[in-house]
Amino acid sequence: MHHTVSPVGILRSCFREKFAIPRQPQLAPAARGVLELLPPFDTGEAVAGLEQVSHVWLLFLFHQALEEKPRLRVRPPRLGGNKMVGVFATRATHRPNGIGQSVVRLDEVEPGRLLVSGIDLLDGTPIIDIKPYVPYADALPEARNTMAADAPLLIDVHWSESALTQAHSEALRLDEPVIELIEQCLAQDPRPAYQKPDPERRYGAQFWDLQVRWHYPETGLIRVLEVVPA
Ligand code: SAM
Repeated sequence: MHHTVSPVGILRSCFREKFAIPRQPQLAPAARGVLELLPPFDTGEAVAGLEQVSHVWLLFLFHQALEEKPRLRVRPPRLGGNKMVGVFATRATHRPNGIGQSVVRLDEVEPGRLLVSGIDLLDGTPIIDIKPYVPYADALPEARNTMAADAPLLIDVHWSESALTQAHSEALRLDEPVIELIEQCLAQDPRPAYQKPDPERRYGAQFWDLQVRWHYPETGLIRVLEVVPA
């Protein structure tokens, strides 16, 4: 059976590239975005009642990872990127139909747009459905997943004085929690697990319209070097 889906909205996100996006929602509460609803869902009717809900499920398309040929097995970064498991045992982006799902915080409901946070989605992600989180059915205290038992370990994030000053002024300009966003995302250590530590190597990623650069001066420590307009 073939069935066509069309987006109900597009997410405008703080994440402008895939690198350094947390691997699941809720890991960076300062990660914010605006879900702009598309006609005919943009009038307010479709979101009436949603102000009674604190979190929503976003169903979306991994639009930058769509593939013609389905993969049966994938290498999750969480397992170091060198162990293959069945695609249905993971939340990998490369998957049949390219559909993702994330529970995000719903901060504000307006006709035609939803303000959300705790997101793990790229800017421009097509959202194909929105559903309220239902705590009594969706929160399962007895649930287990021994492959991904706990949230990733966090590493320390330090700042150079100039980067912190830059981040402060950009936070004021954007009216966004830029410092918290950078700290929460970098503390997850965005590097692929297989990469060897090299204190000389510089890394970078774009958050909002800012280019953030950092390095790893020693194991388990990130130092933010620069926060500049991209
Ligand atoms: N929570 C979702 C799920 O379980 O379906 C997403 C999990 S997936 C492992 C999260 C990663 O997807 C992010 O770290 C980012 O690199 C990537 N990503 C986010 N939005 C994307 C998009 N629109 N297209 C392709 N990759 C995306």
